[in-house]
Amino acid sequence: MKPELFHFVRRYHEGKMSAERAENCTIYSSDGKAYLDAYAGVASVAVGHCNPEVNSAVIAQIGKIGHCSNIYESDIQRRYMQALSKELPENLSRYFFVNSGSEACDFACQTMRTRSGKPLIVAFSDGFHGGTYLSKSVTGLDMWKPAVFEDDRVIFAPTPNCRECPEGNFNSRLKRCIPGSSVCSGVCLVPAEEMVQRKQGQICGFILEPVLGVGGIITPQQGFFQRLGNIVEKHNLILTVDEVQTGFGRLGGKLFGFQKHELKPDIVCMAKGIANGFPMGLVVSDEKTSLAMSGKFNFSTFGGNPVSCSAAIATLEFIKKNSLIENAAATGEKLMASLSEKLSDIEKCIEIRGEGLMIGIETDSNETANTVMAGCFEKLLLIGIGGNKRNILRIEPPLLFSPDMADKAANIISEVFHSPIVCQT
Ligand code: PMP
Repeated sequence: MKPELFHFVRRYHEGKMSAERAENCTIYSSDGKAYLDAYAGVASVAVGHCNPEVNSAVIAQIGKIGHCSNIYESDIQRRYMQALSKELPENLSRYFFVNSGSEACDFACQTMRTRSGKPLIVAFSDGFHGGTYLSKSVTGLDMWKPAVFEDDRVIFAPTPNCRECPEGNFNSRLKRCIPGSSVCSGVCLVPAEEMVQRKQGQICGFILEPVLGVGGIITPQQGFFQRLGNIVEKHNLILTVDEVQTGFGRLGGKLFGFQKHELKPDIVCMAKGIANGFPMGLVVSDEKTSLAMSGKFNFSTFGGNPVSCSAAIATLEFIKKNSLIENAAATGEKLMASLSEKLSDIEKCIEIRGEGLMIGIETDSNETANTVMAGCFEKLLLIGIGGNKRNILRIEPPLLFSPDMADKAANIISEVFHSPIVCQT
């Protein structure tokens, strides 16, 4: 008799729901239920499930060429580079196509070390950069990094905690830091700068996320990144911005977090929303950085696969044409405002934070977060969980999430938080 088949690693919703088909912001399970998707395949389905424009582009591309590997020039890759270059600063002109966010961050770290000849990389203690050996080494979160991945060539700076900082302007009734009312002077960056000073001459660069996603939607206040940029410049470090989760309009305001927060990266890592869920990752850098890797063979068989590239072109076009960056900003703010009103009386809700459609609800414990996520699931709303203590609920829907959907999501979350199963435990 054949053995029963199991997945290699544990999944979150083991045995709960089998996704059969999907459309826009809804996933239909094989038992006929329709779930409002406020998690978008972990922040990846930027322009909605089975987006007809992405699908048409993919179908057309499959009929032309499905794979040829990176050993040949590829017309569709060139078209994507041309389209994306219009959105990027001019100096970011070198592209390396890969399959995933992990591969992108891994390559970025290799590049920082190779260009500088220096071993040490600085990362944030709650950052997440992937599942390959090197991207795991620069990941700070304990849960995602068993001891075997500890690497003494990586140093971790403390993650900013604006709620605990007077400059964060935390409003305890609304459970939010009120943006724009104060500018960060970078007090929490002092340990990072001291670290850089102590290890002077050995550090190649920083890798960071503009909003820490898996770490629990940690959103440093206005001014934080300018201060960090000053440290990078002063010590002549290389800056890698990991836009795997924040990219392609998720934060609202700009296509990328580094543009919104006025960072000047040498390297940018992209994946997730880049191709609406089709597997693709991309590293973009300036010429000087890329020259460090030229002549050294780097290869990714499936990197920038033509079908994924066709999805990426259609995704970018759709985002621009339908003003989804603006929608992420407006709908995200509406959702956060509504959540902070509705949850203001809930003791177990500690903070609501986020930018655009990357929203986190910090709860008092992993138990509360699990209970709320399960309650939402029962009420047919899909959300996620993050944070080192796994106590932060994550809301990261497709960027075309409508105001009505935001209302529906806020109502369900509020009902679950107010239900006896959460309130009385
Ligand atoms: N960087 C960040 C910021 C991420 O959120 C993730 C995935 N959650 C990764 C890298 C790794 O991406 P992937 O799962 O595509 O390898």
